[in-house]
Amino acid sequence: MLEKLETLRHEAEADLASITDMDALQKVKHDWLSKNGKLTDLLKAIPTLPAEQRRPFGIGANEIKTMLTEKLASLEEDFIDQAGSGIKLDLTIPGFDITQGGLHPTRQMRDDLNQAFMSLGFEIYHGAHICTEQTAFDNLNFKPDHPARETMDTYWIAGTEDKSADERYCLRPHLTGASVDYLKEHGAPARFVYPGMVYRNESTDPGHERAFYQYEALIVEKDFSFSSGRLLIDTILERVFGKPIETRMRAGYFPFVEPGFEIDMRCQVCGGKGCGVCKYVGWIEIMPGGVPHPNVLLAAGLDPMEWSGFYINIGLDRLVMMRYGIDDVRLFHSADLRFLGQFK
Ligand SMILES: [Zn+2]
Repeated sequence: MLEKLETLRHEAEADLASITDMDALQKVKHDWLSKNGKLTDLLKAIPTLPAEQRRPFGIGANEIKTMLTEKLASLEEDFIDQAGSGIKLDLTIPGFDITQGGLHPTRQMRDDLNQAFMSLGFEIYHGAHICTEQTAFDNLNFKPDHPARETMDTYWIAGTEDKSADERYCLRPHLTGASVDYLKEHGAPARFVYPGMVYRNESTDPGHERAFYQYEALIVEKDFSFSSGRLLIDTILERVFGKPIETRMRAGYFPFVEPGFEIDMRCQVCGGKGCGVCKYVGWIEIMPGGVPHPNVLLAAGLDPMEWSGFYINIGLDRLVMMRYGIDDVRLFHSADLRFLGQFK
């Protein structure tokens, strides 16, 4: 039996020596190492041998296996190298141009605002994109018949129309609902921003989109004065624009604030002289806000006699338009790289 092993060893060596190309190599590999190969048959025979022969036979068979496996692998590597050496390399050909990406201008503005607010101790909070009618309207002192609740403004989730306010869902039409959620979770005092996408069922025009970014901030403290809020806005704008920005405050009505205001900033496109972007008035409306309405504080579980605060609801796209002097908001959502590539 051991003589048979020697014969096989010689046979294997002869087969290896005869290999001249990849095809021959694959054939030898198949003949010896496949499921029905010669070596497999040999190993299967071991249990049938007399006990004293099994060990030397096993060792010998394994030596042949190791020899075949190693030699075949090394030959295979050689053939692959030879095949590759036919490729001619021309190292003088110029490389590919690497295009560097950039952040979307709205994203850059959001990041800059985050930095400005964080430097004043604000936390960043992310609310849910799908929320209940309770969160979007009831908590914010919207009366049951307020027109914003109707389908013309808000995208309602099908199948929940007949449910009560805490089970009727919509795509958030504004961010403000998240402020009450945050206060319920964290209590007061609080200072936080909550940026994100909001959704309105509107027809698009140069100033309006169906989905757009908003950016809100809320501070809740005891005895927070209106003038501190104004100072906060001016500080943030100066940080973001890198220079003092002239602002003005007008009375404004929003259900969730009392008193409410509108903040206008000097049109940065024309410097206040009047242009198409500011509709020739020299000012542009960038953020409504005001003191949280007592009903909103109550919805958040806070005592309106004890707590006060200040909402800022920033039209993020407007601010980006002011930063770069862009007159059509739809360009930001166009995914046109010729446009977006200018804001790296
Ligand atoms: Zn202007």
